[in-house]
Amino acid sequence: VRFRFTIALGLALPFFAATIHDDSVARFLDRRFPSSNISYLLVNVRERGVTASRWYDADRPIPVGSLVKPFTALAFAEAHPGGFPEFTCRGAIDRCWLARGHGRLNITGAIAQSCNAYFLNLAARVPPEAMRDVVARFGLTMPPVQSADAYIGEHGLWRLSPDALVQAYAELASRADDPTVSIILAGMAECARHGTASALGAGVLAKTGTAPCTHEPRATGDGFVLALYPASSPQFALLLREHGAPGADAARIAAQFLDALRTGF
Ligand SMILES: [Zn+2]
Repeated sequence: VRFRFTIALGLALPFFAATIHDDSVARFLDRRFPSSNISYLLVNVRERGVTASRWYDADRPIPVGSLVKPFTALAFAEAHPGGFPEFTCRGAIDRCWLARGHGRLNITGAIAQSCNAYFLNLAARVPPEAMRDVVARFGLTMPPVQSADAYIGEHGLWRLSPDALVQAYAELASRADDPTVSIILAGMAECARHGTASALGAGVLAKTGTAPCTHEPRATGDGFVLALYPASSPQFALLLREHGAPGADAARIAAQFLDALRTGF
């Protein structure tokens, strides 16, 4: 099975300008990224198969922080056909993680910067039934409480399985023709270029998250990054978790990870 995946990867992907050997993608990645601090799932967007993975208990729901925000944006759009608002983030006073504030933001900037103030404002106006629709469409599950905090991924309230989450993003990538989805993907492009996932740079669509750690040995928090690539027509979805680090650090590892896939075989 691994051998077949390797071949599929090589044939399907001019993006990986690499010589394919008999070695599997998974074994290659495990060799290049041996740290047990790193968990990952690499999924083929079109076929939805797992190309390579190292994630113990990937079907167990865990807090994923701000990785839920794109789905909250979709639920907002469903209930508010007029489009996304602009909002001025004043920082700590608006409960944003960036104490000095992000200033005036539209949806693109809010996704790129993962602005909590913008998304709290959005989430407060998301009816649970709209969220229920989005969650069903993307194969996710509802949080146990319907609140703005839960909808922006705060306090570990909304738990999703890594398996389901990476598939939901693959589904998002495959719906790029939808006008609302295309706005969200533009935000993820900006996130990779100049936002919280700027370690990845152009050519990737990304979103970061930071959440309470739920595995052993316990750390204060874990960093997450979701990357879709290539940006122009995503063929792969990568979910990567770095133990005991913020999301921006996980994006740095993901950048090395994608570089290794591009050049490393
Ligand atoms: Zn903010």
